Parts: sequence; structure tokens; C-alpha cells
Amino acid sequence: MSTPAAHPAFPAFVSGAKKHLIDGQWVDSVSGRTFDAVNPATGKTLCSVAEGDAADVDLAVRAARRAFEGEWSRWTPHQRRKLMLKIHDIVLDNFDELALIETLDMGAPLSRTTNLREWTSQVLQFFASQCDAVSASAPRNSLPGDFLTLKHLAPVGVVGGIIPWNGPLIGLWWIFGPALATGCTAVLKPAEDASLSVLRVAELMTEAGVPDGVINVVTGYGKDAGQALAEHGDVDRIAFTGSVGTARSIVRASAGNLKRLQLELGGKSPDIVFADADLDKAVPGAAMGVFTNSGQVCVAGTRIFVQRSVHDEFVERLRDFTGTIRVGDTLDPTTQLGPLISERQLERVLRYIDIGGGEGARLAAGGGRLAGDLASGFYVEPTVFAGASNEMTIAREEIFGPVATVIPFDDVDDALRLANDTPYGLAGGLWTRSLSTAHKVSQGINAGTIWVNCYGVLDPSVGFGGHKMSGYGWKGAREHVESFLYPKAVYINLD
Ligand code: NAD
Repeated sequence: MSTPAAHPAFPAFVSGAKKHLIDGQWVDSVSGRTFDAVNPATGKTLCSVAEGDAADVDLAVRAARRAFEGEWSRWTPHQRRKLMLKIHDIVLDNFDELALIETLDMGAPLSRTTNLREWTSQVLQFFASQCDAVSASAPRNSLPGDFLTLKHLAPVGVVGGIIPWNGPLIGLWWIFGPALATGCTAVLKPAEDASLSVLRVAELMTEAGVPDGVINVVTGYGKDAGQALAEHGDVDRIAFTGSVGTARSIVRASAGNLKRLQLELGGKSPDIVFADADLDKAVPGAAMGVFTNSGQVCVAGTRIFVQRSVHDEFVERLRDFTGTIRVGDTLDPTTQLGPLISERQLERVLRYIDIGGGEGARLAAGGGRLAGDLASGFYVEPTVFAGASNEMTIAREEIFGPVATVIPFDDVDDALRLANDTPYGLAGGLWTRSLSTAHKVSQGINAGTIWVNCYGVLDPSVGFGGHKMSGYGWKGAREHVESFLYPKAVYINLD
């Protein structure tokens, strides 16, 4: 633990009452209600946040519609690109503050949040480079007579964004990036457990010159504000990241006006370690593939399959590595892992650890809540279960905490059978020195994103996506931008 004197000063932004951003104005909820933003590392309240519901969402959607149909629709790709590059500069100039706000509000240590600077720069520059996606082409036609045929890609309109708490500084750009690049407008509802960094980014974006109503942020709970956004008849598209259960509600709620949907959901991703792997890389790589962000990562490689001949050595080395991970004070720059987001999440993770033991998995590391100086925060030790099977609850259900389940396998076919025996299909990893195994297994895993001899790296211009119950809709790359557009054919009779 570092001494309090080493701590950076709390930014002024995390005090006072936080409001919605609607039509360029900071406003209280129509109901006047608020809820508390809590620091998960201490359990202490930081500030109050406006609790939005259907009335606030309706005001925001109306503002977004007016903006979509107004001056914004006449902005050229070059104007939007210049705006996005200005946002890029302002956001990066203020990144230390943003990282600190994110750390205080959602509990990821400073070492993680400050490291998002370069990624943020990349994601903003990538989406800025996509402003020409709103375009037209002139495909040749075979019509009798003299016809010119044009194909436009036009912005879909008002986009509702609903994001989770595990990385708002990442999640918000998957909404605002393509919205600004394409000339859409957006209403974003951050998670109730982590709204502050989103609000500060929105403030910086208005300073950069985003016109009123183009981006709006309504804070509040999912069942009220989130549900109202998914149901709203004047929202054209919902981009949702979160759990499968919530996605089902959103699919139902969106049926009224048949909104377009993008759903990025959970996972129970396999990470497969072959006997020929370089264990010096595979052990820390697979470990941090689970434990990063205290396991609160959608792509976490929580099912570690290890070839039987190296299983025991791997487990021993994983246990030793886990013991070296620095868990603690989120403001200490040497801390690697912070707390879980909330007391509710802590209880959920501890419950799964109990279930793992109860079903016969062997606890090889961790397994408990952290006490002492950390007792008031929502900390759980990085935990490793060994001798597990793919049928156990800890191998079937997404825990969203720092819990690794190690399962032995015999050969490639066995590994693939086990890896694919899950309703999810978000991601997967494998560790091998064999080119042939790398290709066979990466093709054989039924998931949207595969890592070979690494885990979790992500380039916005390449992107990632889900399969099966992990959802649909690519994030990043041109596909993401084009999903904020719709095609329109124009037939012109020139005779
Ligand atoms: P969650 O589904 O509970 O909440 C996500 C968001 O949905 C929050 O903003 C919440 O307020 C809102 N919401 C809740 N109920 C709603 C409703 N009825 N209608 C509309 N909105 C509603 O998920 P969570 O627990 O906050 O986040 C963890 C989940 O997110 C995990 O399953 C994780 O795997 C997933 N996740 C996926 C990705 C990805 O890109 N695939 C990334 C991060 C997290």
C-alpha cells in the first residue's frame, strides 16, 4: 500500500451533483431523483448522480432527433473529422483526470486506466478516419433504357447506447465514435455503477464543439432509463453491451418499432494451453487473460484448458504467478488489480467460489475476500480452481470476477470439443509453438475473436465481435461504422 500522501488529488469533478446532458444543457432529472456514485475501493460515496427515467430519456431522444434533422445533417465528412480530431486532442490533454475519475468510480487501478490513453487515441483516430463512410457509389445497371443507379449509405438516425460498468472509458467510444463519424446522433445511458467518466468525457466533447443534441447522456438504472431507451419509438438503433439477460429484455423492448440492434454480451471463453507451449509466456498470459480488471472483462479466458502432460506443472506455476499479483490500493501506480465494482458483485463472485468448492474443484490459489486495509472495499483474491470439469457451474456460467478454472484435456479434438461446449462464443485463446495446431484450433473454436500466444489485445481498426449467445454486431473496423448506416438505392431515368 502506498501512503495517502502519494495519492493524486481527487478531481473537482467527482464532487457535487452530476446531471444529465440533454440538448447541450446539464439538467436534473424530471423526477428530481438521484443516486450515489460509490468508490468500490473504499465503499464511500463520491457524489450524487441524476436518476433518469422515461421522461428524461424522451427529452434526450427528442433533442437527438432535432439535432439529427437540423444543421448537423449538413456537416461535411471533413467537418466531422475535424471535430473528432479536436475531441481527440481535448480528451488526451485531460486523460490523467479521466483515468483518475474512472479509477475512483469503477475501481480499476490507475495502472490500468492510465494505460488506456494510447488505445483512446487509436480508437478516436480510427473513427475520425471513417467519416467518408457516408458515401454513394454508382453501380452499373442492366435496365432497358438509360438509367443512372446510385447507392447511398445514409446515417440510420438516433442511436441509443447502453453500456456496462466494466470499462466506460472504452465502451463510450463504441457508441460516440461511429455516431459522430456517420452523422448519427446518440443518447448514451452509462451503467448506474460507473457514470462519472462518461459525464466528464461528454463535458469535454461539448467544449470541443459537438453541437447541442448530437450527443446526450442520461444516467440512471437499467430497468428505468435503459428500458425506456430500448422501448422508445423514435430510436432507430440500439447498441448494447452487457449481459445476456438484459439483452433478452432489450430484444423484447425494441420490437415496437423494430429497431436495429447490436448486442455485445458475455462469455465463458476458452484459453487452451498445449504441451508444446512456452509456459514462461503461457502462464502469465493465461493468468492475466482471466484476472485483468479483476476478471470483469467480457472476453476473459476463464476456462483454461491444459494438455494433461503439463497440467500439474502449469497449475503449480499459475498458483505461484497468482501469488505475485499486486492487489490493493487503486491509486497506487504499482497496483495491478483493484476491487470488484460493488458489494453485489463481490457477493456474487464469493458465491461462485463456494459453488466451485462444493462441486469438487480444488482451490489452488485465493478464494477469499481481502481483509485488513482493504476490508471496506469490494476486494476478492485472484482465485484458481484446478482439477475441474467443464460440466461444473464455475465452467458454465459467467462469473465476472477473478476466478480461473483449469481443466485438463488430451488432444486437439478433445480441446475443441470442450472449448465449444458452451452457449457462448465471444472469444478464445491458445498457446502453442506449432503453426499447424495454431491454425487448426483457431479455425475450430466457435467464437468471434481468437488470440494465439497472446490474450486480449485489440486494435480498433480490426475489431472484435461475438457469436452464439455472446451476441452479434462487430465492434471496430469498417463493419462497425457501416452498421450505423443504411443502404438506399436511387434509380434515375435519364431519358
Ligand atoms: P447488465 O446487462 O446488467 O447492464 C449493462 C447495461 O444495461 C447497464 O447500463 C444497465 O443499466 C443496463 N440495463 C440493465 N437492465 C436493463 C433493461 N432492462 N433495459 C435496458 N438496459 C438495461 O450488465 P453488467 O452486469 O453491467 O455488465 C456485465 C456484463 O456485460 C457481462 O455479461 C459482460 O460479459 C458483458 N460485457 C460484454 C462486453 C462485450 O463487448 N461483449 C463488454 C463488456 C461487458
